[in-house]
Amino acid sequence: RANKSTHGIFLPHLVASLEQVEQTYIMVKPDGVQRGLVGEIISRFERKGFKLTGLKLFQCPKELAEEHYKDLKTKSFYPTLIDYITSGPVVCMVWEGVGVVASARKLIGSTNPLQAEPGTIRGDLAVQTGRNVVHGSDSPENGKRETALWFKEGELYEWTPAQAPWLME
Ligand code: ADP
Repeated sequence: RANKSTHGIFLPHLVASLEQVEQTYIMVKPDGVQRGLVGEIISRFERKGFKLTGLKLFQCPKELAEEHYKDLKTKSFYPTLIDYITSGPVVCMVWEGVGVVASARKLIGSTNPLQAEPGTIRGDLAVQTGRNVVHGSDSPENGKRETALWFKEGELYEWTPAQAPWLME
């Protein structure tokens, strides 16, 4: 379908089919907030060109941390992981775009920051797995699951960035 703006430029958010648009749940963990890295981390997703649809500072209750990390329940580090995530406020975000889930994982880098490539968030800003400053959903399904877990419907916003036609042809 040809959707043109008043300037005759195709609007990519309308051209990209709806199934291609993914959501990912990104969270600045308590160490990232305490270390003053919130702006730095948001900037990286913003500059890449993804669309922010949800954002809040939040103190995570224990039950939510347990639900979020339920697949890791049997791991030895699980209790300390729950303590870590609930140790202070986190910044919760939802970013939207075509291919955003895998791309955000690349921007974030490997789970162990010492193995994360320079240029990635963890590669540049962290040293230990247990203090790796940021979370990102690992699949489009988990992107949806985690978005629904951390945000209420009224906290998410659909909008059209003014730069949209300059990001995708
Ligand atoms: P990722 O966050 O990169 O998707 P995982 O899903 O494997 O990684 O683990 C979730 C989180 O659990 C990690 O980001 C990290 O905070 C913590 N974690 C994972 N492995 C360990 C470990 N060996 N020791 C301490 N914490 C860990």
